[in-house]
Amino acid sequence: MNFTDKTALVTGGSRGIGRAVCLELAKGGANVVLCYAGNEAAAQETVWSVEALGAKALAVQCDVSDAARVDALVKAAVERFGRIDILVNNAGITRDNLLMRMSEADFDAVVAANLKGAFLCMKTVSKLMLKQRYGRIVNLSSVVGLRGNAGQVNYAASKAGVIGMTKSLARELASRGVTVNAVAPGFIETDMTAALSDAARSAATGEIPAGRLGAPEDVAKAIVFLASDDAAYITGQVLAVDGGMAM
Ligand code: NAP
Repeated sequence: MNFTDKTALVTGGSRGIGRAVCLELAKGGANVVLCYAGNEAAAQETVWSVEALGAKALAVQCDVSDAARVDALVKAAVERFGRIDILVNNAGITRDNLLMRMSEADFDAVVAANLKGAFLCMKTVSKLMLKQRYGRIVNLSSVVGLRGNAGQVNYAASKAGVIGMTKSLARELASRGVTVNAVAPGFIETDMTAALSDAARSAATGEIPAGRLGAPEDVAKAIVFLASDDAAYITGQVLAVDGGMAM
């Protein structure tokens, strides 16, 4: 993939899937702006890894659920690189519990980070993309947003919401050179899934036709394709990257 002279903003780029996306984009020569919630050391490590690939990187601390911080993030990206061609809404959290035990605070926190965060970033960045008449937006949904999961009412609501937002914005921007797509990863080896017990892990693996959990790079390669010029005629789609789990 060639991303020379392109600038990408990757939310939650300090770890996991977001970090892998930053590195794949850097391999293609993109300038990479990544934001993170609080883990400055991980964000700095991603910056060094991007720079080691010969690309430029900027890390900005930003809670994506805070509109003022998102405005400042986008401003910092434009001040440094002049434009944003690619937005990957990857930042996300879980606060799992059965509905009966799920607090209102845990519902609100997950929807704020996963759904409102993507909304705020799309709202701010799409203004630039419309002026440029070029843009690629890729949102992180989940197989959980497609088929639900016990213990994840809040997360499933946020990830199903991401699909609705993706399709709606794709319709709004399709005639202006801006595509909006989503990926729906299955069970990927990151910090988010590291806390699962061996029993839960082997039960999940049993549900995956490919017979293995995914790697962050498996998802990153699909995201980077949707972010490329080659995907110009693909919009409003949800691509499951899940070893066949959700089919
Ligand atoms: P992860 O390893 O837990 O990393 C989460 C990233 O998001 C970190 O960079 C974190 O920053 C950042 N972040 C969290 N809340 C944020 C906020 N409010 N504002 C800005 N950044 C924030 O997660 P992951 O497993 O790579 O998941 C990435 C995305 O894929 C998420 O949207 C997740 O829902 C989705 N997904 C993951 C899986 C899976 O199996 N792992 C499956 C389906 C979908 P800090 O480093 O500063 O904490």
